[in-house]
Amino acid sequence: MKGTETVKKEIDYMEPISIANNSKKAFCEECREYKPYIVKVIKRSKENDHKKVNFNEKLSYCSYCGCEIFVSELRDENLSEMNSAFIALKEKERD
Ligand SMILES: [Zn+2]
Repeated sequence: MKGTETVKKEIDYMEPISIANNSKKAFCEECREYKPYIVKVIKRSKENDHKKVNFNEKLSYCSYCGCEIFVSELRDENLSEMNSAFIALKEKERD
């Protein structure tokens, strides 16, 4: 399918810090099945309250079709990465 190819190309251009294969499986809406997925780590910046932080965000993609897959575990990790970055920034400002 053409659409799938486009998605794969976009992912390739994202220049991840790391790519890891994974033995875990997650539900892929495209494949309509639990599939193994790869985890890409990218540098993400987020602004909140006029403060900007950088943190590593983990994205997961189906190994079969390349579509992004939602993995709640990774979302939690991303949120805690982001929160730690904001906390670290606040502590720095206090010094
Ligand atoms: Zn898939």
